[in-house]
Amino acid sequence: MTTIAMPAPAQDIIARKAEIVSKLAAVLPADAVIADPEETRAYECDALTAYRCSPLAVVLPRTTEEVAAAVRICHELGVPMIPRGAGTSLAGGALPTADSVVIGTMRLRDVLEVDTANRFIRVQAGVTNLSVSAELEPDGFFYAPDPSSQLACTIGGNIGMNSGGAHCLKHGVTTNNLLGVRMVLSTGAVVELGGSHLGANGLDMLGLICGSEGQLAIVTEATLRILPRPEGARPTLIGFNNAETAGECVARIIRSGLLPVAIEYMDDVCLRAVEAFAKAGYPDCAAVLIVEVEGSEDEIVDQIERIRVTASELDPVEFRSSRTPNESLAIWKGRKAAFGAMGRLGDYLCLDGTVPLSKLPYTLKRIGELSKNMAWKSPMSFTQATETCIR
Ligand SMILES: Cc1cc2nc3c(=O)[nH]c(=O)nc-3n(C[C@H](O)[C@H](O)[C@H](O)COP(=O)(O)OP(=O)(O)OC[C@H]3O[C@@H](n4cnc5c(N)ncnc54)[C@H](O)[C@@H]3O)c2cc1C
Repeated sequence: MTTIAMPAPAQDIIARKAEIVSKLAAVLPADAVIADPEETRAYECDALTAYRCSPLAVVLPRTTEEVAAAVRICHELGVPMIPRGAGTSLAGGALPTADSVVIGTMRLRDVLEVDTANRFIRVQAGVTNLSVSAELEPDGFFYAPDPSSQLACTIGGNIGMNSGGAHCLKHGVTTNNLLGVRMVLSTGAVVELGGSHLGANGLDMLGLICGSEGQLAIVTEATLRILPRPEGARPTLIGFNNAETAGECVARIIRSGLLPVAIEYMDDVCLRAVEAFAKAGYPDCAAVLIVEVEGSEDEIVDQIERIRVTASELDPVEFRSSRTPNESLAIWKGRKAAFGAMGRLGDYLCLDGTVPLSKLPYTLKRIGELSKNMAWKSPMSFTQATETCIR
């Protein structure tokens, strides 16, 4: 287990555990309070498993009122609170401290309202990302932000981390698709921001909550923008002999005015890991792009042709557009398995970053060089090296 410098837990709070738990139990259903250390261990970390700490207690409310009741108790007793959805965050956002109460929102899982005419859905915060789109499927709509963890992660967690997915290039991340929230402040007060349309309910303060990692409020309900499903979508796989050229291809596609629904990049290390794990049939080369376009059949054909012309100026080693749903699945198969494939490697580092488009080719080249030379010994030195190369 790795140890990190966390603030020392308040011993006086830990000493009052019995009082805190009994006050929480007085306002919540019997099965909503967990205090047994054997059971609280399940909440000791999120997907950043290097850091762990069992909380003082965990509460699992089912309604906004129950969340507010638990928060009020913690506020009165001066106990730190950690909101938690499914615990899939890779950044330790739901990591507790020994003197804290985890407030889990995964039991708030009702779909409250679907309004396709006005293009929104209202759900409780514990509804999983994938079940939002599943709910909308029969009506021909979908919810655009699609993190790879969408089977498990919750809408509350997506708001906490401002999550996006493969489709964020065209449709944006959570903040671009969030219309309103109902939330509980750290005092227990229930507040609503936004509503069922843009600009609802006065000042636009949603951006403050979205991405705030649960530090400002606990979201209990969210109103989300929904989109009609496109007529069709088709991925194209493009292989290159070096990373820089793949980056240049991305920059040229965007500069040409095309807006694919997704552009995904994998370097040779990732490709090797993916092939060993998922046997996706990707080419043996330095870098692969998966570019997905959507629209009517005519629009798809036109966009793929424009991408082909752009890519061919850069001499790709492979250009393969899917013609059938099975071929689409085959192109996406390896990319969807990439996280698991990388997880099997002994030595890998997972970092998010935002790179100016014009610096993309150089950045991809430098990241390749850095990882080959093993010039980094720690996440910090790798981050500094990457920042240097971006500057
Ligand atoms: C295999 C895998 C793939 C992933 N792929 C992606 C991806 O493609 N894109 C991406 O963006 N992320 C990705 N992630 C990261 C993670 O899934 C997202 O950050 C996700 O949104 C977290 O949701 P969660 O419900 O698990 O939240 P948690 O991990 O439980 O919490 C995340 C943060 O939000 C806060 N929070 C949780 N619920 C609430 C609430 N109701 N109100 C206020 N704050 C709250 C927590 O305090 C914490 O700070 C991936 C993770 C894994 C393990």
